Amino acid sequence: MNDLSYNVKICNVIKRYGDFTAVNDVSLDIKEGEFFTLLGPSGCGKTTLLRMIAGFNSIDEGKIFFGDKLINNIDAHKRDVGMVFQNYAIFPHLNVYDNVAYGLKARKVPKDEIHTRVMEALKTVQIEDLKNRKPSELSGGQQQRVALARAIVIKPGVLLMDEPLSNLDAKLRIQMRTVIRKLQKELNITTIYVTHDREEALAISDRIAIMNKGRLMQVDKPTTIYQKPENIFIAGFIGTSNFIDGTVTKIDGDMTANIKLNAGLEFSMKLKKNITGPVQISIRPEQFIIKDANEPGISGEIQMYTFLGDSVAYEVELSNGQPVNVNEYTKDIEFVRPIGEKVSLTFDTNKINVFTQDGTEVVS
Ligand code: ATP
Repeated sequence: MNDLSYNVKICNVIKRYGDFTAVNDVSLDIKEGEFFTLLGPSGCGKTTLLRMIAGFNSIDEGKIFFGDKLINNIDAHKRDVGMVFQNYAIFPHLNVYDNVAYGLKARKVPKDEIHTRVMEALKTVQIEDLKNRKPSELSGGQQQRVALARAIVIKPGVLLMDEPLSNLDAKLRIQMRTVIRKLQKELNITTIYVTHDREEALAISDRIAIMNKGRLMQVDKPTTIYQKPENIFIAGFIGTSNFIDGTVTKIDGDMTANIKLNAGLEFSMKLKKNITGPVQISIRPEQFIIKDANEPGISGEIQMYTFLGDSVAYEVELSNGQPVNVNEYTKDIEFVRPIGEKVSLTFDTNKINVFTQDGTEVVS
């Protein structure tokens, strides 16, 4: 449906509100046809950055390009973007068809073409049957489909979405994110998506930029962000991580480090930085392997279990008193382990991350 989609280049952009810097020296290279997500905690600046791209916020410093075109001084309505907002922002007095046709009428598209394009957009988001309904006669998910159809019918070069699913209930959110993902791939529109929902970001994106306090922290594929977070903030922000204190007691010339956990296990693994002294280790719940208590590992005791169907989530207290979360898949086990069972925890050193003691840098 889309004739032309742009790559979006953001160069050292800054946005200030008085003394406060909401977006601080952000640079990004978003590829043509990419599904790119800005993810971060509330107030990190993701909406501000999206609005700078859309043209609703001015750019204090830096440059934004759509393809080769510098768009800093181009008005929002001339930027060739489609927008989808959290609150749908569809016109309550117009029916579905007219809501979707609105942008085409404003662009003086011939009537026949308007009809063809509106019907095509409604079909794409699967709401042709609802074309005569008013927004008040639609569910939240259906209203968001209208908003999506309205954004794509103008064939924008860039699609911008600001938390489009946050007003929907959990089940519908999952359904709609699949709709959006499929649609985006089908149309191959460069899409910039804002969310604070980590699971949604992992599920929907080609790449994710993690923002914190106006700055970029990491830009990577979802799998890399999950498996190789660049600092402790990201390891804790995305998914669940257990943080365990340890010490690098020595490191060889080939960077093989001997690490001793305070919870009582010594192991060796390769690091990418030559450091000794205190470190923090992060281990995902599913990366722990539960063994019998007499086998080597970190000793612990089951404190609680939650049966989740496909897995069991345990809280295990380590011998130094630290509680950790451990997941075991039910396909690998016959019983749920009882409270009080003594266990030994091990892990594959390739699947864990080692950070400097202050957590600012991954060294594994
Ligand atoms: P959320 O997930 O809560 O929407 P966000 O990451 O999208 O958060 P922004 O809306 O971009 O955050 O806001 C970033 C920071 O800039 C916040 O601290 C916010 O209070 C501040 N801010 C946003 N708009 C203005 C404004 N018009 N004037 C002053 N400060 C603002």
